[in-house]
Amino acid sequence: MVLPKEVTIVEVGPRDGLQNEQKMLSVEEKVRLIDSLSATGLKKIEAASFVHPKAVPQMADAEKVMKSIERRAGTQYIALVPNTVGARRALDCGVDGLAFFVSASETHNLHNVRMSREASLEEMAGVCALAREAGVPVRSYIVTAFGCPFEGKTPEDTVVDLAARMFDMGASEVCLGDTTGMANPLQVFNLFKRLAELFSPVRLAGHFHNTRGTALANVFAALQAGIATFDGAVGGSGGCPYAPGANGNVATEDLVNMMEDMGLSTGVDLDGLILCAKAAEAMLGRRLSSTVAQAGPTWRLHKAPGGETENRAS
Ligand code: ZN
Repeated sequence: MVLPKEVTIVEVGPRDGLQNEQKMLSVEEKVRLIDSLSATGLKKIEAASFVHPKAVPQMADAEKVMKSIERRAGTQYIALVPNTVGARRALDCGVDGLAFFVSASETHNLHNVRMSREASLEEMAGVCALAREAGVPVRSYIVTAFGCPFEGKTPEDTVVDLAARMFDMGASEVCLGDTTGMANPLQVFNLFKRLAELFSPVRLAGHFHNTRGTALANVFAALQAGIATFDGAVGGSGGCPYAPGANGNVATEDLVNMMEDMGLSTGVDLDGLILCAKAAEAMLGRRLSSTVAQAGPTWRLHKAPGGETENRAS
């Protein structure tokens, strides 16, 4: 089996994770979390979202956060923006990249940003123009790329057409989001294989939520289609707005552990990342869904029992 040798991990916890958490973190806590994440060697961090403060109160302090973090050389700090107003605010903070999003599902897009997909794409053209002027790349999410809680399974053609339009507009990367955890590995492989043949696999990324426990299986399916960029949220923070109490994004440490154990290099310090996950749990005041933060890395061996008889395993 041929898999990419190196994988880029995009940490989206400070944005996708935190915006779906009930507890609001202070600017200081967010800054501490982002700085400790960048110290693990993560090359890309989606640090904030410049949406309207009324729409997402968790992100109302985006400017303060962006201006207070320590900008580690080697880490790109990306901001999510829903429109040109947000893009201007983000660029004023000196972000290294913008992220934009359009839903594959018309109903979801109307629900999410109160405009049609066509209107979102028009907005995206403006965001791309601003990014070009500032000399920063635009990463474009196709939200609900595999399934939508209102419309069901997403047709492949819809995603292919949207991706083509996003690249035409100047997106540097198109990231397929399984926003509500509805994808299965076979669907992921087939869609990414088709996109990788049409565009280049290096311009594609996968963003999986573990709502139904399939995130790592979906990541592995995408790897087999040649995809080498994946999003994760530290600790598996966040959730699903349509399923209260459900798991959030795939945990970054679960992703890194699986990649490194398969011999794919991520450049991320897994022990440091596990500490970040534990710190995030403490800040959010709840047990997060990460498995590796609980069990430890696969490569960590435990002391063999020294002569004592164990009577528990029978
Ligand atoms: Zn997401």
